[in-house]
Amino acid sequence: MSKRGEGTAGHPTAKDLAQGRAGTSARINFQPYWWETAPREQGVDLPPLPVKSDVVIVGSGFTGLSAALTLQNKGVNAVVIDSGVPGFGASTRNGGQIGSGNQKFRVKRLIEIRGKEKATAMLREGTQMLDYIEHLIVSEGIGCHFRRCGRFRAAIRPEHYEAMARDMEDLKAVAGVESFMVSRAEQASEIGSDVFFGGSVLPHDASLQPAMYHSGLMARVRAKGGTVAGNAAAVAIDKDTGGFRVKTSRGVIAARNVIIATNGYTGDLVPALKRRIVPIESGLIATEPLPQQLYDRLLPKDRVYGNTNRVFYYFRGAPDERRIIWGGRAGRIAPNTSPNAFRHLAFDMIGVFPELANVAVTHAWDGKIGYTFDEVPHLGCTAAGVHHALGYCGTGVSRATYFGHKIALQVLGDPEGRTAFDDLVFPAFPAHPIAERAVPVVETWYRIRDAVKF
Ligand SMILES: Cc1cc2nc3c(=O)[nH]c(=O)nc-3n(C[C@H](O)[C@H](O)[C@H](O)COP(=O)(O)OP(=O)(O)OC[C@H]3O[C@@H](n4cnc5c(N)ncnc54)[C@H](O)[C@@H]3O)c2cc1C
Repeated sequence: MSKRGEGTAGHPTAKDLAQGRAGTSARINFQPYWWETAPREQGVDLPPLPVKSDVVIVGSGFTGLSAALTLQNKGVNAVVIDSGVPGFGASTRNGGQIGSGNQKFRVKRLIEIRGKEKATAMLREGTQMLDYIEHLIVSEGIGCHFRRCGRFRAAIRPEHYEAMARDMEDLKAVAGVESFMVSRAEQASEIGSDVFFGGSVLPHDASLQPAMYHSGLMARVRAKGGTVAGNAAAVAIDKDTGGFRVKTSRGVIAARNVIIATNGYTGDLVPALKRRIVPIESGLIATEPLPQQLYDRLLPKDRVYGNTNRVFYYFRGAPDERRIIWGGRAGRIAPNTSPNAFRHLAFDMIGVFPELANVAVTHAWDGKIGYTFDEVPHLGCTAAGVHHALGYCGTGVSRATYFGHKIALQVLGDPEGRTAFDDLVFPAFPAHPIAERAVPVVETWYRIRDAVKF
């Protein structure tokens, strides 16, 4: 297993990885780079689970922990359980790019779908989500490299630049979001690559180290008397007088309320939720630390970055080292412990930054995004009285934190828990098993369309 700053020995270069020449003996750490500085707890000597709690929360990512923190702050006891180690899911695996969650739809499109009033309320609440996560991190004193670094979204085609410019104006008018456009002629001030046709900058978007943020949240929940327990899969939820009995792989917990916070890892536990979420895998790679001059040339403003393709890629620097962290869709042709599963990421990275061809790739990992049919997240309560918050469609760092807080307030019947997302119909995927299997096909089709530009 490679260690931070260890050098290039045995690691494949980005070019070898991209060309499928990394070989099975190549030294790549297939765990998230973020876990190096925020290691996951080992599943040994586990304390027994409590037999009862006010609220049991299934899933220990940002949603579950944020909900638990709000409950504990209100004097309500929360037990968070996870089938893996705490933070096994997307929350410690993601790119750590934080926006308002407003980038899924163009503003005009959202208004067409939802109507002006609802779209405006949803977009405005999106900006509150970004403010909320900052407020939480500052007020709880969580060290996680949170920084309002800004986002540069690079146009893949000239018409994308024009469309983005119009959309940014709409976003300002509707939700007050600040941004500015950077033309192709000026983009060297933003990025050391000439493959793009300019882009937009959202200067208030932010970044953090996701596993450190997760560890900080978990420590706060425990310090306030909550329980966070790993290796405890919820296998059934039964109604009982006065609440629920949650059967887990390590015993039964009685609770007044249950919150499902399983997002892209949602299984059969609550079939009505499973039918509404399709998991989509996303992968990331990390390079070795780069020389300062090269790093400064490639990412002169040290922001977070993405592009305008249908099959999106995104990248950023590591917070305390000069590594590039590059993400996109997960590979389909090989298991996620094979270098070949990450070829396309190295390929895309070199396409943007040819200087990185001979740089070593030290880490490669993936995680699951929870997609909804209408591409908006949902929170609420099932007919059986089980609360849930999930479906962030790949932009969940701020949204999961915010939705976790709101669903906890809803459990308590607190009017502050109301959101613009409350009364949205949560549609099931038509023919769910087929939708799940169709993901690679649809992605490949979109990749082809991106490549041939139609
Ligand atoms: C590779 C990748 C990159 C991403 N990049 C970004 C980004 O840059 N910016 C951004 O905003 N968003 C990003 N996201 C999305 C973001 O990470 C997620 O939306 C967010 O972390 C979801 O948090 P969560 O707590 O709802 O779910 P998760 O963190 O996924 O946690 C769900 C947990 O539920 C557990 N679980 C499932 N079933 C059970 C059960 N029956 N019993 C017990 N436990 C169970 C799982 O083990 C898992 O740990 C990315 C996601 C991925 C995968």
